[in-house]
Amino acid sequence: MHFLRARHVWLGERGWLSPGELGWDAAGRLVVLRRARGRVDDLVVLPGLVDAHAHLQLEPLAVVERRFLPWVRAVLAARAGRSPRQDRRTAVAALRQLRAGGTTAVGEIDSTGQSPAAFAAVPLAGRCYQELTGYHLDASAARARIAERERPAGANCAAGLSPHAPYSASAPLIVAAHRRRRHLAIHCAEVPEEQEFLRRGRGPFAELLQQLGRLPAGHRPPGVGAVRHLRALGVLGPRTQLVHCQELERGDAALLAATRTPVVVCPGTIEWFRRTPPPVPGWLRAGIRVALGTDSRASNVDLSMPRELLRAARCWPGLAPETLLQMATAFGGVSLGRPRLGRIARGGRADLCALPAGTDAPARALEEFVHGARRIAAVWLGGARAAPC
Ligand SMILES: [Zn+2]
Repeated sequence: MHFLRARHVWLGERGWLSPGELGWDAAGRLVVLRRARGRVDDLVVLPGLVDAHAHLQLEPLAVVERRFLPWVRAVLAARAGRSPRQDRRTAVAALRQLRAGGTTAVGEIDSTGQSPAAFAAVPLAGRCYQELTGYHLDASAARARIAERERPAGANCAAGLSPHAPYSASAPLIVAAHRRRRHLAIHCAEVPEEQEFLRRGRGPFAELLQQLGRLPAGHRPPGVGAVRHLRALGVLGPRTQLVHCQELERGDAALLAATRTPVVVCPGTIEWFRRTPPPVPGWLRAGIRVALGTDSRASNVDLSMPRELLRAARCWPGLAPETLLQMATAFGGVSLGRPRLGRIARGGRADLCALPAGTDAPARALEEFVHGARRIAAVWLGGARAAPC
């Protein structure tokens, strides 16, 4: 058994345990959670942070591009010249960077099949979604694509599928992915051009698909926006994570709340493309679980959940530090379909991070952390102390 006694332990919506004692077994499972007696370390212990949406293999683009469609083209071009070894190495470095900032679980979009090897080398928890694209695929081609792309789950990291977006994955591909593997991640309603393409079948996405040879002859658009399209396909629900949701239409948020569909927002990407932050406080009030993601270094300057929290505090200044931290922990776990991640509870993994406590009230430490004024001092992954950052 290993024990950690700290001045304060944050238990999310259950409040504070001050002073608190945590104990975990050799397998890294928390088995003791109680008030501490005697000497304690000068720490505020938090659940490990959950980066709910990342593309670990993506590197910064050679040219900074802030218009979305040219950016998509630049990402496609950058990916084309890479080897599996480069993808694996980049993902390993990204996982180490995230862990140094207190992240212990990730929702990874794996576009090449190399990410499970990276999770084996740096064993963060979370879910590794295999990316699926193909707007031209019919039902049997979709099933074949899924069979070729599926990868087994790792020791700590569960498996999922990510039909990329309603403008890049055909309806049969999205439906087949849902039938095959219940846990999905889908980019949804990210830009107005996506909604235009889905409603009317035209615009820059139609042109891009045409050039790629992926717009089927006689294509007819679904005629509704992205959320209603996904609802009609029957894929909304607690196990489908929707990413971005910048361009929700009237009634969409109520639909997401009613179907308990989680949403991930990526403040670094919002800043990168100079977008208006979506109405997250209203979504939270409606009961939607909204998580935070770093997205990728192609649309974010770094992979750091503390900095993502700082950006989130800037995007939604009315949200309390505790709420922002829930988005970066427990709601992240929920969005990955792994609700025990991002929480400190008996029976769960000892995935933890800690701040220096000082003599302040613990709420002050949280507030300073969220605003970038207090840094992560220690990280434990499945009970193992990670290298200091
Ligand atoms: Zn993404």
